[in-house]
Amino acid sequence: MEKLFSHLDTLYGEIVEIRRHLHKHPELSFEEVETAKYIAEYHRKLGHKVREQIGGNGVVATLEGDLKGPTVALRADFDALPITEENDFDFKSVHEGVMHACGHDGHTATLLGVAKALNKLKSELKGNIVFIHQHAEELPPGGAKAMIEDGCLDGVDVIFGTHLQAQVPLHEIQYRPDALQASADRFEITIQGKGGHGAVPEETKDSILIASQVVTNLQQIVSRRVSPLDAAVISVCSFDARGPYNVIADTATLIGTSRALNEEVRTKIEEEIEQVVKGTCLLSNASYEYNYTRGYPVTVNHKEEAEFVMEIAKDVPGVEEIKITEPFMGAEDYSYYLQKVKGTYFFTGARPRDATEAYPHHHPKFDIDEEALLIAAKILSKSAVEYMNRHS
Ligand code: MN
Repeated sequence: MEKLFSHLDTLYGEIVEIRRHLHKHPELSFEEVETAKYIAEYHRKLGHKVREQIGGNGVVATLEGDLKGPTVALRADFDALPITEENDFDFKSVHEGVMHACGHDGHTATLLGVAKALNKLKSELKGNIVFIHQHAEELPPGGAKAMIEDGCLDGVDVIFGTHLQAQVPLHEIQYRPDALQASADRFEITIQGKGGHGAVPEETKDSILIASQVVTNLQQIVSRRVSPLDAAVISVCSFDARGPYNVIADTATLIGTSRALNEEVRTKIEEEIEQVVKGTCLLSNASYEYNYTRGYPVTVNHKEEAEFVMEIAKDVPGVEEIKITEPFMGAEDYSYYLQKVKGTYFFTGARPRDATEAYPHHHPKFDIDEEALLIAAKILSKSAVEYMNRHS
């Protein structure tokens, strides 16, 4: 295994170069054409079997070990965000209004480095490695679901992946043996009242008043319908009803998001929202339309695989601390992979070492410490090799 780490140490300069190249040339979700080509070309040069346009812009490359054994998938996403970068380093985005502000440039550079390092060990590998380069993580419906439907997990026994975290100290790894991230759904409620003169409210059904009651009543769901031991969020993020100053609005539309850490609570929220809307509208004899759209599911790690990867991580140079993290209410479409195969997703601390306070993900000044890429590469590649050794 020292060979694996020394290959990665040697490749570190190249990994950083790849990350900076990708950082400079970011592409939005579902538009990552050049990034996909770059990734495919890199694997092709290594002699890996490459499948392109998987479920969209996804790229899947396979390294076949010379010995028999299981198939391990490693996943990295590669899309960027609609943000104008405010960093001033020389690899700042040259694409106006687009920025790698979530570290997906680092994920991809890490996985390409891992691919090159493992390729050098081909003759000793007991099984196959599938490199899943996923497009469009940031924008539902996301790339993962479509890539799975297009066969990216066919023959895969286990999947490992990581997210670089700018607000977690460098040299720290965080994981959970169960639900790590929440489901993320969207709801839209339109209240149909009856418009009319602002001076004659008794002849109207004031949609703004009714929608306001709905917003307030929705707060009862998390506080009174969901167990205090279960995490849940319902946020109304848009309230739209307008007219001239003297006209009572005919309709009002509420749009928001709901989150949960297990599927039962998720389903309950979906039903309870409608109950609240129905009841509130009944009070005012108004009608409504309710649409609930399911986004990414809960990201639930498999206990055994989560603990296995941490057992590997504790001996990786550069890892000083491993912590069980609290679950996080943001969602991640890695969840779909974990619904299909065993595996785990963990966080790699990447806080810039000189920063007193790191900028959060999706911030115009977001940045990561590149040493985190090397640490992540070592954990992922060693986990893959060791998994193959134990299961062949
Ligand atoms: Mn991300």
